[in-house]
Amino acid sequence: MKRGSITVASYLAIALAIVAPITLAILVAYERGLESAFDRAARYAQDALTRSETIADQTFGAFAELGADKQIAPCSEANIQKMRTFVLARRYLKTVGSMAGNWLVCSSLGEDMGGLYLGPPDIVLPTGLQVRKDVRLPFAGEETFQVFARGGFVAIVDLEQAVDVTVASGDVSIVAFVPSVGLPMAAVGSIRPEWFERSRDQGNGFFIDSDHVVAFSSSDRFDLGTIAAFPTVHLRDEVIATAWLAIPLGFFGASLLAYAVFQLAKTQVSLPSVIKAALRNKEFHLEYQPIVDLSDRKWVGAEVLLRWQRADGEIMRPETFISVAEETGLIRRITARVIELVEKDAGTLFAANPEFRLSINLSASDLQDECTPGLLSRLVKSTKAGPSNFVVEATERSFADPDIASKVYRELREAGIRIAIDDFGTGYSSLSSLEKFDLDFLKIDKTFIDTIGTDAATGHVIPHIVEIAKSLNLIMIAEGVETEPQLEFLRGLGVQYAQGWLFGKPMGVDELQRRMGVAPS
Ligand code: C2E
Ligand code: CA
Ligand code: CA
Repeated sequence: MKRGSITVASYLAIALAIVAPITLAILVAYERGLESAFDRAARYAQDALTRSETIADQTFGAFAELGADKQIAPCSEANIQKMRTFVLARRYLKTVGSMAGNWLVCSSLGEDMGGLYLGPPDIVLPTGLQVRKDVRLPFAGEETFQVFARGGFVAIVDLEQAVDVTVASGDVSIVAFVPSVGLPMAAVGSIRPEWFERSRDQGNGFFIDSDHVVAFSSSDRFDLGTIAAFPTVHLRDEVIATAWLAIPLGFFGASLLAYAVFQLAKTQVSLPSVIKAALRNKEFHLEYQPIVDLSDRKWVGAEVLLRWQRADGEIMRPETFISVAEETGLIRRITARVIELVEKDAGTLFAANPEFRLSINLSASDLQDECTPGLLSRLVKSTKAGPSNFVVEATERSFADPDIASKVYRELREAGIRIAIDDFGTGYSSLSSLEKFDLDFLKIDKTFIDTIGTDAATGHVIPHIVEIAKSLNLIMIAEGVETEPQLEFLRGLGVQYAQGWLFGKPMGVDELQRRMGVAPS
């Protein structure tokens, strides 16, 4: 990524880091608020339903009790006495009695109350239950009652009690109704007709209807349902209450995230100047990873790997800074530093083994830089080595455009320095562009070595790579060999060299020198 785009991406990331957690906090607050509003409405509807079911139990219980003994005359003194005791023990029943036609002939209130005309039923339900709503009784003033009758018996109740549940605010509406016919029986507040439609035959549930939170419950024992509703302003209150909790948490998360992103962005943006300082302060050093001959495991050479140890001791991996160095042109100075450091170590290494080979990594831009061959030729001279002591490793990408790479390539060849294609198979060069170059080594990338012995899709690639290497006359070096079975497999295919933890991790020059003469076990 270019530095400009890193800066833009960082600002976007910081903006996102602030906006996302807060949005999330508000969403969470809304979800929670909604949940708690629905819970509250559902509780009201359920309370009203429980009461309505008790009223239905008491009503039908009265019908069953009074009709139980067919021998007793309905309005006999004994039966009226029975009615009285029954009503006394039933909280919601005002009166039970006996009917003839539309007349109440006797009741628990006594025989005097007989002969009361109740009028025709408002509705007769499919179960045969006659319903008279809002009936006035002569002794009860303005108060209205609901009258249920079946089989010659009547129960008079005050259904208002069913919807008289405890609520948190004055604007809660509750209705008890008969779902099969959509008939409201008792209500507080105002109920919209469409709510009946939406809550029919559905058990329990809730919904938002424009400006109301609505919950409904229906009985599984009786033809009975309830609806409770309140304005959504309460929902807003609940959301705000939760948001007061969630937003500070969101802000806290946002600040942490923004800080982290900012730190990351800062290191990305300031990396070039930090690299320059590192070059000045000599914070770079080299490690060497042995390359072995697979036939006898002898250390025949080593790959030179750059290490950056910062003043605070932290080691920066090459992956984190090489690409930035390439983009900003600093790679030239880094490569020059690597060569300078190799120059210091090479003398002792070649003294111990004149055949020893050092592989130096070059970036794609080094292969376009006309100073590179000069740097390497000077290295050969000053170390008094033969040119075959040095190999440069360049990725496939470096050879993608033959016209650009060819001048530097030719000069390297002329100087006798050998060339390896690094990370083979991971890039996007075409075989035909590789064929234009006369190269020496092909490094089989670790990702392919890792698949040996597994059934990964790329697992069958190595034999093809080996074929290509052979057809281009390239000596093969397998990278990242960690196990004996990998070694055996590669040896079986005719791969000549390898490097990897199985033989040795990257190490300092002293350790390399100490171990390079030791006969492999
Ligand atoms: P590379 O050239 O493919 O180097 C091989 C990498 O694989 C090294 O990582 C090495 O430590 C690691 N490796 C070797 N054997 C094993 C193994 O058995 N197991 C595992 N897990 N890893 C193994 P390192 O040193 O971090 O280098 C990473 C990359 O940085 C190198 O990849 C190379 O592209 C680049 N690099 C390193 N030094 C230089 C340099 O001086 N100049 C330039 N331009 N690039 C360099
Ligand atoms: Ca390499
Ligand atoms: Ca490699």
